[in-house]
Parts: sequence; structure tokens; C-alpha cells
Amino acid sequence: MKEIVEADYEKEVLNGGSVLVDFYSTECAPCEAVAPKLEGLEKLFGKEIKFVKIFRQGNRELSDKLIVKSSPTLLFYQDGEEVCGRLAGGIKRSEIVRELKHVLGKEKVTEIMATQQPFVTDVDVAILGAGPGGLTAGLYLCQAKINTVLIDIALPGGYVSTTHMVSNYPGFIDPQPGYLLGHNMSEQTKQCGTTYKVAVDVTKVDLQKKEITIDNQETIRAKRIVVATGTSPNKMGIPGEVEFRGKGISYCATCDAKYFGDKEVIVVGGGNSAIEEADFIAKFASKITIIHQFDQLQANKTAQEKAFSNPKISFLLSHEPRAIKKDGDKMMVEVEDMKTKEMKTITADGIFVFIGLKPNLEIFNNQFELDEWGYIKTDEDKRTNIEGVFAVGDVTSKKYRQITTAIADGTIAAISITREIG
Ligand SMILES: Cc1cc2nc3c(=O)[nH]c(=O)nc-3n(C[C@H](O)[C@H](O)[C@H](O)COP(=O)(O)OP(=O)(O)OC[C@H]3O[C@@H](n4cnc5c(N)ncnc54)[C@H](O)[C@@H]3O)c2cc1C
Repeated sequence: MKEIVEADYEKEVLNGGSVLVDFYSTECAPCEAVAPKLEGLEKLFGKEIKFVKIFRQGNRELSDKLIVKSSPTLLFYQDGEEVCGRLAGGIKRSEIVRELKHVLGKEKVTEIMATQQPFVTDVDVAILGAGPGGLTAGLYLCQAKINTVLIDIALPGGYVSTTHMVSNYPGFIDPQPGYLLGHNMSEQTKQCGTTYKVAVDVTKVDLQKKEITIDNQETIRAKRIVVATGTSPNKMGIPGEVEFRGKGISYCATCDAKYFGDKEVIVVGGGNSAIEEADFIAKFASKITIIHQFDQLQANKTAQEKAFSNPKISFLLSHEPRAIKKDGDKMMVEVEDMKTKEMKTITADGIFVFIGLKPNLEIFNNQFELDEWGYIKTDEDKRTNIEGVFAVGDVTSKKYRQITTAIADGTIAAISITREIG
């Protein structure tokens, strides 16, 4: 991709035609993740739209003028005017293609996309999921000189990257910011030489053939597969939840608590995640009401004591949300008293939901043998019921789901695989 500087901007970008501009930085994992996608798309669309990149830190005045605040940020231009939405963060190929349709027209883009050739890449091991479990498996396999590719639908790091502070990961005296721990785990595995395919669409998985297709284009054929896809937050399943997701309802305090400075917030849940995250949200919000279905919290004693002593946090126990509505900027939550069955409405500026997790298994079409809670059963070497397919971390059947247990699983699977094919 052609690199330009601020002085070229007018000539290269504003002088007519279609242009895609990538504002990038160095030492930026999402920038590295998007670069090969842009190169591939430039080969396909290069005759229709000009692709240029600008080093953000080296062209600060221009970045500030265009209000480009993070790297990478993709901007699309048509005849000197910025058009359609900007893309930032962990950008998927399909999202760029979607925006190209706005710039070049749906028909043109569909026609060009139809010319792309699918291709197969052979590797020793493909790992699905780049959280602590997958990253650790990747590290051990890479150090054993096994050709490994790590695939994730998001950026690497998994849950750790969205956890505010981690105080129970051995080796650090002080609590570590989750994003930093996730980043360091990822960099360690990447620097070893593991290939990363992140922020991709996993469009097909054939566990029997050990083939994983990403972005509807590349099929990765592996001798072994490690499934490390973790879990997703449970939803309340009540009216209004889908409608207001991201518009007042959040499942990630680290991501969204900062938007609730001096605001009133409801936290749904009573386990460790809910209580610990409420404590974090209290750094921003003026008032937090914890709604929990039982008459006691499930969180451990330390977390409970901290929450009980926080003057910003109050509790509505034995209550369950039944519906969410919005009145202007205010969220209106209808709650049921589990003892009296009476309904009442409470208002807040935002709602955070922490009511447990479910394993990420949708793409596997019920091929795994599962435990009674729906998690993948494995043997002590982390083998599943499917030959050559291993599973590690939170997605597997186990008693305790923690970073340390996920990385232990990743270690075991990698060593088992190394013994088989190393
Ligand atoms: C709010 C919260 C706070 C926590 N705090 C702590 C703590 O303080 N200490 C502690 O030890 N543990 C903590 N945990 C638990 C810990 O984060 C998990 O046990 C750990 O991250 C599990 O690692 P994993 O690799 O199995 O899964 P995850 O970290 O969940 O990573 C799974 C990865 O798989 C990817 N993925 C999902 N679907 C697909 C797919 N179809 N294809 C490819 N990739 C996919 C995801 O994008 C993700 O990157 C916390 C969890 C939560 C929710």
C-alpha cells in the first residue's frame, strides 16, 4: 500500500476518485491484523479505489484535524468528500467490503468479490480462540517448532483483555491491568513466530476433515485442531434487551463503565463477576443498584465485604428484571419481587449484566460430546471425542474457570500434540 504524508493528502486523497485511507501506528496489534486484509483487498479492488496509508504519530496535525483518535482508523473518500462510516479497532475483512459497497456500489463489489480465488493453507495445528488458553497452546507449540496458526474472530487476549484488574495471576506482586496482561501474553506468542489470523470471520469448520475456512476465502487445513473459544455472557432474555444492547445495556464494565461518569447504573447479577465489576463501575457512576434474583449474593466473602462497604452501592435482592424500556435517555427496568410477585419500575442511566456465561460452540454444529451444562468433555490430555481435536480453557467441562486453569489446559494440549506430531 502506498504510504503518504500530510503534504500529499490534498493531491492523493482529496483530488477526486475513490480513496481508502488507513491511519496506522507502529507497535499496534490491530494495525498489524488489518494490514494483510488491506493488501489482499488492494489486489482485488486496486483498479477501482486507491489504497493509501498514513503513519498517525508522524502526521499528528492531520490526524487531529480529521479527528482520528485511534489506530487503525480507515476513512473512505469519494471525489474529495469523506463518505460512509469509519472503521476502527479490530477491523474485519467483511466490514471493509461492506463499506466498499457504499463507495463503489453493491453490484461492482459483488462482481469483483466473485473473482477472488479460494485457497488452502496447510499447517500442523490450528487453534481457534486467542484467549489465555489458545495463546498458551500457541506459545508451547511454537517453541516446539510446530507450525501453528491462531485464529480469532476478535483481537487476541480473550476475556483477560476486557477485565479491569487481575490480582490473582501468579508472578506479579501488584494487580495487573487485564488489557496489559492479555497484550503481553499475545506478544509473547506472536514473537515466538505463531501465525495470527485475527478479527476474521470463521465461516466454516469441518472438524472431521480438520479444515477451518476464514473470510469465506482461505481454508486452513491442519493435522490437529485446538478449540479454545471460551464463553459469552448469558443474556437475560427479556423484552428490550436486544433492542437496547449497546444503547444503555452493556456486558463489559471495562469497555463501557467510563461512559457512566456521575450517572446511575443498575448491575444485574450476584456472583463474583457482578460484584467485582460493580466495584469497578463505582469508580465512575454516582449510584449503583445491584439486582439479584436470590436473597443472598453468590460472590466470595472478600468481594461481598468490599461491595457492602461501598456507599455508592445498594442492593435489591430477591428481584429479577422482567422488561426494559427507555424513556428519553433513561432506562426503565421492570422488576419482579421474587417473594411477593409484585412488579415495580426502577430507572437508571445504564444497565450492566453479569449473569453467567455460556460456551461458544455455535460454529461446531453439535459435533462434540458435551457435559450436562453444555461444555466440551475432554480427557486429561485435553482430547475431545473427535480424533485430532483438542479443547482447552473455559469452553471445556471443568469446575473452575480462571486464567490459570485455561493456561494450564493450553499447556497440556500443546505438550500432548507435540508428543503426537512433533
Ligand atoms: C468479567 C470477568 C472477570 C474475570 N476476572 C478474572 C480474574 O480476575 N482472574 C482470573 O483468573 N480469571 C478471571 N476471569 C476468567 C478468565 O477471564 C477466563 O477463565 C479466561 O479468560 C478463559 O480463557 P479462554 O482462553 O478459555 O477463553 P477466553 O478468554 O474467553 O477467550 C476465548 C477467545 O475465543 C474467541 N472466539 C470465540 N468464538 C470464536 C470462534 N468461533 N472462532 C474463533 N475464535 C473465537 C474469542 O474472541 C476470545 O478471544 C474473569 C472473567 C470475566 C468474564
